[in-house]
Amino acid sequence: MKSLTQIVMVLNGLHTIAAFSSIGRRVFSQKVSSISTKNAAFLSQATNLLTQTNPIAYTKDWSPSSHRTFGLSTSLGMGAEKTDKLTSWTFDEPCDIMGMNSMPTTTLSFSDESKLEDDTDLIILGVFAPPESDDKDDDSTSEKDEKDKTVEPMLVGRVKELDEDFSGAITELMMDNYEAFKNGAKAGSLTPTLRSIIPGSKTKRFTVLGLGEEGKDIDDGYFAKLGREIALRCDAEKKISKCTIVLPSGITLQDKSLFDVSTEFYSTLYSDNRYRNGDKVEKKVEDLLSVTIIADGGVEDLSAANDALASGKLMAEGVSLSKDIVNAPHNILNSESMANLARQIAADSDGTMTCKVLGKEECEARGMGAFLGVARGSETDPRFIHLTYTPKSGKASKKIGIVGKGLLFDTGGYNIKVAGMELMKFDCGGSAAVFGAAKAIGALAPDNIEAHFFVAACENMINEKAMVPSDILTASNGKTIEIINTDAEGRLTLADALVYADEEVGCDSIIELSTLTGACMVSLGLNICGVWTADDELAAELAQVSKVTGEKSWRMPLEEEYNDQLKSKIADISNCGTRYGGAITAALFLQNFVSEKVPFAHIDIAGPVWDDKLGATGFGAKMVTEWICMKGKKE
Ligand SMILES: [Zn+2]
Repeated sequence: MKSLTQIVMVLNGLHTIAAFSSIGRRVFSQKVSSISTKNAAFLSQATNLLTQTNPIAYTKDWSPSSHRTFGLSTSLGMGAEKTDKLTSWTFDEPCDIMGMNSMPTTTLSFSDESKLEDDTDLIILGVFAPPESDDKDDDSTSEKDEKDKTVEPMLVGRVKELDEDFSGAITELMMDNYEAFKNGAKAGSLTPTLRSIIPGSKTKRFTVLGLGEEGKDIDDGYFAKLGREIALRCDAEKKISKCTIVLPSGITLQDKSLFDVSTEFYSTLYSDNRYRNGDKVEKKVEDLLSVTIIADGGVEDLSAANDALASGKLMAEGVSLSKDIVNAPHNILNSESMANLARQIAADSDGTMTCKVLGKEECEARGMGAFLGVARGSETDPRFIHLTYTPKSGKASKKIGIVGKGLLFDTGGYNIKVAGMELMKFDCGGSAAVFGAAKAIGALAPDNIEAHFFVAACENMINEKAMVPSDILTASNGKTIEIINTDAEGRLTLADALVYADEEVGCDSIIELSTLTGACMVSLGLNICGVWTADDELAAELAQVSKVTGEKSWRMPLEEEYNDQLKSKIADISNCGTRYGGAITAALFLQNFVSEKVPFAHIDIAGPVWDDKLGATGFGAKMVTEWICMKGKKE
């Protein structure tokens, strides 16, 4: 990734220090745990896959005892303590397995029980706001405010009955918090928790959840918002094991709504405990066993509702994996551990996925000079990863490709970054989205679609073999590329990945996700990704996917004239334009590596992949998953 600072800063003496500290980093802080039984099972599966798919690239004795990891190789569950004594991987060899966080064990389900269970610890009551009156046109603002204050909450069904049992305590709770809660007018708003005792029942905590005005306020992010707020409240309330959500009959609970509630519920509860000990472990909802949703009037098809909640959780597992990948530092996650992760995704896919890993010789044989040029400076060899999903039915009307940028660390190379390098572990955000989606797709098993996932995994580091500015690399389609700036390396790895997806695999359409440019962050900020495609139909599909998943995107121009910036004096093309329109020239560069007839979209996710407070966001996993499912349904 070419950072902003890199664009404007000139090289200075600091680089040498930064380069040495980068090399020295590996030497320090090495702790490794022993192998969990789960990993041992995976490893034996992985060994099989390894022998089948790539006997050349791996000659190492592949057994748990030769397996090198850092921190927790066991997934640290909610509330689990790390007890394994930490052993170590060797000084000379890098880590080759990335541990993963486990999902919360809380079950989220829909029930058609007609009465509330007595042993619930927390009840969350969904309420619609009273409808706004229509004759407000002549009211001044202050008069309107005055009027609002006199509006009583509108309770129906079970919530109303409960309020009556409590002599109006629920109404009182809402009125006491009117300023912030406005009778539930804002979807996802919550009142403080009321503690009360119902005679003969253990339930003692109640919260009211705003659902907005009935029939209004329901946009694509509505149910995700509810899922997030429910998760946050469950986490904030300590020592609860059972929670029940009561919804009024007016709420439209389609399968997609429940899928969204579930995905966001579980995603909100993510915390990365892989590298923490003791009281540093951040335990979320550690006592919470179950969350049960009930709705006045129930749902049409109870088992479909529960399937939708279960599918939402599978999506959340994909998002969680994306976060794990982006959060993992380079001394845990390098090209080798990334390849092993892909093997694990295939092993977990119930036979729907295969994993092929090309080592450096196989990449050489294909002439992947652009990818290999970037990879030369690293301790670990490059790994070209190709996961294939085939539906159980074996039938697929389309064959699509998804490419993710997999720079496991980007120092900038000899054009070394002089600021913000610690964030460059997130330069694998594209591959994180792709593998997160692959995990979800393996579990959700959509029909009628063959999906190929590609990651050219490597690091952009410095050693005596690393590329230098002015080098000329030759990509696998024969195009020669003059290196103007070694920090514009992501597009080089993508070039060979795109040629492979297009020419070797023959994908009908291809999307590619990458944390490619600081320039895209300047254009669209931190919440929106940029989409470049010459194909209007693909653009429409991606806009739809973005709307449905809530992962925001914006179509950007492929301004042909800017190709002038990529002219090289000595080669077919240069790898970098000027600082103006840098996100566009990066997109134009990539067009050189996909045939014109193949619909192709480049998606720059450099902004939304990282949040300074939360770390990895998992951005892109839902988008890719949704696109694959959508393509399967489309005739
Ligand atoms: Zn870079």
